[in-house]
This record gives sequence, structure tokens and C-alpha cells, in this order.
Amino acid sequence: MSDSDGTNNRIKYAYFLHGWCPKTGSKSVLASTARKVLVSEYEPRMDQHLFCPGCFTPLVRVPKDKAVFSNGRKACFAHIPTYRSVLCDLRSTKPEGKHYVDEEQAKQAIEDHELVVVSSFLDAPPDASEVKSGVYDQTPVEDIDGPISNVPIARHTGETFRLPTKISTINSLCRNFDHNLYRYYVFPGQRAAMRLVDALVNIRSVTETTDTPRLYYGRILHSFNAGRNPKPSNLRMTKLFANGAIADFYLKDVDSIQTEKGISDTSVNRIVLIWGAITWNGVGLCINRPKWGEYALLPTKYDALLEDA
Ligand SMILES: [Zn+2]
Repeated sequence: MSDSDGTNNRIKYAYFLHGWCPKTGSKSVLASTARKVLVSEYEPRMDQHLFCPGCFTPLVRVPKDKAVFSNGRKACFAHIPTYRSVLCDLRSTKPEGKHYVDEEQAKQAIEDHELVVVSSFLDAPPDASEVKSGVYDQTPVEDIDGPISNVPIARHTGETFRLPTKISTINSLCRNFDHNLYRYYVFPGQRAAMRLVDALVNIRSVTETTDTPRLYYGRILHSFNAGRNPKPSNLRMTKLFANGAIADFYLKDVDSIQTEKGISDTSVNRIVLIWGAITWNGVGLCINRPKWGEYALLPTKYDALLEDA
């Protein structure tokens, strides 16, 4: 399906920059100076100055003047036919993994911050001496260099590339989350580079346990210390909005660690991102004790990008 039928919600924002030209303009200038506009923030004056976060060609909002289509579907951004020759995976409603022609191309994508290979997430806060401090805030300060690994993202099936990896944290994904949404990531155990926007799984869609960890997001319904006489060493149970087909869904971890991450009794409605596998919790489901680097609260300024949480 193409985005012309108005079902595409993979384009969460458009770059809005007056007078920028897709044929001659600098992409890095666009990415660093344009305002990021949500579908709901669209105004007619922005026409012809909105650009795709994937291919940088012009976007329009459809329908232009209403928040919903006549059939009730929400408005969205769509590409224009003039630039049909520019390939963009965001034209499709169906995410595809990205494959690279050769190792050089993949290495270049890593250098250009378009691709990140995450070999694992941090177990504990990094030693200050290990942290590579970012010159500017696009470089997540919690990432440390991981091993050179064989990564199966070649166009040629079965071929792997030897690539530098990062030992990262979900917190660093949440920083500059809007930019990160359209970067490609290879997460631990995964065999394709996916844009972050396509790798994220809504907790509300989860109805079963899983063995394979994935990246989930959910909205907090309720959070409490499970101790009879609450102490920081007790478990904190953070209940997330869940699928109607299951009893409930919890993020379970020690209170002191959740507190460190800003999760408390008053975190209702905040969005949390968690890397993990889904296990049973009584009659419901949970992600049980993710590692220190495997979950974080999303800064509220990005909530609108995950409006279905
Ligand atoms: Zn595009």
C-alpha cells in the first residue's frame, strides 16, 4: 500500500523549513534547523515547506483542511507525485528492514549517525571514565563502544559485515527521540536494521509471552511499592495500559532503581520504553527486572510521537 490512500502513520512529523530546496538544500541543515511539525500542528501556510524525515522530499497533509478523512481515518502526511523517482521506505505503510550493499556502506552509515548497531544494553551506570562525552547532544553520553561484531545486514543473504557496535541504554534512545525515530538500529539478536519508528512495539498489542526480547513502549496506569512496609529494596510494580484480552501488564523492578529512573506513584500517564521479553506475572503479563540500561521514561515533549500509547 502506498501513502496515497491515507493510512500511513509511519511519518510522525514533517520538517518545516521555509524556502528549503530538496534539490540543492543541505540535509543536515534541514535536520538541525527545521521545526518538526506533527500532523495535528499543520497550518496551510506550511504548504510547500514540509519535508519527509526519510527522503527529504516535499510532503503534503491529506486531507488538507480536516483532521479526519470522510471515512473517519486520521489525517496524515503523504509524499507528492513529482518526486516519485526518489525512493523512500516511508511511502509504504509496511516497514522493511534496511540492507547494505557492502561493509563500507554500512560503516559510512554508522559514521553518519544513520545506523546504530547495539550489541547490548548497560547492566549498570557506566564508569565516568568509560563514557565518551558527546561534543554536542546528538551523541548520547551513556553509549560506550562495544565489540566489533559480525552483523547480518548485507543485501546478500548469509553475508555478514564486521562493524563497530555500541553498548547503549534505552535512556540514550529517549534523548533526541525525534531524530532517533528515523535512524536505523540493529538491536541485540536482530537480523535487520530497522528504523526506530518501526522497531517500537506498543504494549497494548501484547497478548502473549515471548522468548525474544523486543523494544516496547507503554503508558503508565498506576505505580506502587509492593512492600508491606515500603522500602527502596522492595519491588515496585508499574502497571501499564494493556490489551483488553489480558488481565494486566506490569513493569517489575526494584523500587530504588525505578526511582532513579524517575518512576514513582505520581508517574501516571508517562510513557516508558522497555527492552525485554514478556513473561507471566500471576494471571497477567510483565517484563520482569530489565537491566539498568533497558528501560527509561520518555521525556514528555515526545509523547505526541507515540500518541497511541
Ligand atoms: Zn520520504
